[in-house]
Amino acid sequence: SGQKQRAGEKVSPLTFEQIGGQERAKQELVEALDFLVHQDKIAKLGIRPLKGILLSGPPGTGKTLLAKAAAQYTDSIYLAASGSEFVEMYVGVGAGRVRDLFKEARTKANKAKKSSAVIFIDEIEVIGGKRDGGQQREYDQTLNQLLTEMDGIYANESPRILLIAATNRKEMLDSALLRPGRFDRHIGVDLPDKKGRLHILNIHANNKPIEPNVDLERIARESFGFSGAQLESVMNEAAIYAMRDSSEQIAENHLSMAIDKVMMGEKTDREASK
Ligand code: ATP
Repeated sequence: SGQKQRAGEKVSPLTFEQIGGQERAKQELVEALDFLVHQDKIAKLGIRPLKGILLSGPPGTGKTLLAKAAAQYTDSIYLAASGSEFVEMYVGVGAGRVRDLFKEARTKANKAKKSSAVIFIDEIEVIGGKRDGGQQREYDQTLNQLLTEMDGIYANESPRILLIAATNRKEMLDSALLRPGRFDRHIGVDLPDKKGRLHILNIHANNKPIEPNVDLERIARESFGFSGAQLESVMNEAAIYAMRDSSEQIAENHLSMAIDKVMMGEKTDREASK
């Protein structure tokens, strides 16, 4: 686009094309976002505004990438936070941070003259976990504040706010978060299938010299069960093996070794966390 980039402004435009696989998730997300883009019409029809989208699935499958692409697609300001940032010993601090996050989103969008802001909260289960009735947890206030902020999102306000949250443990979320008018759009982001893995491998091979005879299809087959983040690691590790071999290009055996390394790494991580 012909947009000028201001000095010192950090922009990392990320589009849906840079996300491999996840075709269904991308399609569902775009449908939801199109709904957001036409919210004036939607408000006129009396349809409830879209406030929250929940992305759920295993780690490293591209949930953060999807949220960034959503901001890009809707020409919104993008703000990210993680659920664990709101957990504080002192009552009220977490709630204050939630309030500040929404305030910051509105201020930043106004400053940048954008009509919308995407707020991405990763690990939402940390603040939005089930409240178990009985004992009061110190961060119930934080969750209550989040619910208050969501209830305060209106279709015709400017800037419009869209909250996108991610979790690997949807079943742990408090039902208050999942009620209509809150996170009422759920999108599953699963591990990629073979076609998806090939797509992701190709994306991460893009900036790397790969020997022309390398069969990435075979690598995609052999990396069954790998997440996007692991496939990114495979490409990176393969490049390191190539460097060790003083090779200027990544060969198929570098990729095979990288698959083993990433697989072993996962195992040792698991052993260590036992
Ligand atoms: P977490 O639940 O651990 O936060 P996540 O689902 O948000 O994980 P991302 O942070 O989006 O995962 O992915 C981490 C990295 O893995 C990305 O920066 C990218 O390099 C790579 N990656 C993951 N999924 C994909 C994908 N579908 N296409 C291309 N790259 C991917």
